[in-house]
Amino acid sequence: MLAYVYKDKGKFVLEERDKPVIADPKDAVVKITLASICTSDLHIKHGFVPRAVKGITVGHEAVGIVEDIGADVKSVKAGDRVAINVETFCGECFFCKRGYVNNCTDKNGGWALGCRIDGVQAEYVRVPFADTGLKKIPDNVSDEDALFVGDILSTGYWAADISGVEKGDTALIIGAGPTGICTALSVALKKPARLIICEKDEKRRAFAKRVCPEAEVISPEHTEEYIRQSCPRGGADEVFEVAGADNTFELAWKCARPNATVVVVAMYDKPQILPLPDMYGKNLTFKTGGVDGCKCGEILELISQKKIDTTPLITHTFALKDIEKAYALFENRQDNVIKVAIKP
Ligand SMILES: [Zn+2]
Ligand SMILES: [Zn+2]
Repeated sequence: MLAYVYKDKGKFVLEERDKPVIADPKDAVVKITLASICTSDLHIKHGFVPRAVKGITVGHEAVGIVEDIGADVKSVKAGDRVAINVETFCGECFFCKRGYVNNCTDKNGGWALGCRIDGVQAEYVRVPFADTGLKKIPDNVSDEDALFVGDILSTGYWAADISGVEKGDTALIIGAGPTGICTALSVALKKPARLIICEKDEKRRAFAKRVCPEAEVISPEHTEEYIRQSCPRGGADEVFEVAGADNTFELAWKCARPNATVVVVAMYDKPQILPLPDMYGKNLTFKTGGVDGCKCGEILELISQKKIDTTPLITHTFALKDIEKAYALFENRQDNVIKVAIKP
């Protein structure tokens, strides 16, 4: 089968690999029907993910059809259409029992797919812990509808959850990339009084306005001043940092009101400064990534009920054999790309 493989820093190669087989009774093998490229794949490519293992197939965002299951798998069977979770987890360790599946202590727990073990930018993938790593897709939900459920939509949904955003709040989201949009759509479900999206790219601002019409969409230059003036409590009640740019962490905590929660979703490629003397007395709570992706069933239900729609994020589709072109377009943000779908 064809698979896109992490060879070395800066080098991914499309090559022929053996089709995966069941290696553990809790495994499933899934035939990929639609995959995507995530910014985290680019982080691996550029060497910013030290735990990524050279030689593995990359990709961790996909949907497919179960081809085969191990003897202990109970929740899915061959022929089921499934969303694949970015995180595979045992469900039994200290962290899993508390919902902190990103820190599952099993060797195949947390973000393993497409990082430490073979991932989904291929024709087939072996998924460990299939009972927790796969979720059956409802019949009225298409592959395109479900493509982001296991990764970026899980991330946005988790961020909204841990922020504690409530009806009547003012929520500020910094960054309208794909994960920023998923965060905005998830926060919107909590019915804040104001949902503000800050984004520096004009085209992405227009896109954010289109997919999240209830949001105020602003550019970063005057954000701090605007937030301070327009929020009666001196800042936003919840701030989501989803941009990961050079000065967006600073912008995030400066735009937060006293006692606010700042959720840091972004994955940085440089250390950030937490200037405690400057924020003394502001009594902020910081919550940091990555996602505990264990709400895929809930998210698929919301999609099935038409309460959340991420299909507009798919701006381009490529065949797996053309994945090099897809990466070039995504990485260089050509042609107003938001997300690329890959069809094996
Ligand atoms: Zn990802
Ligand atoms: Zn676990």
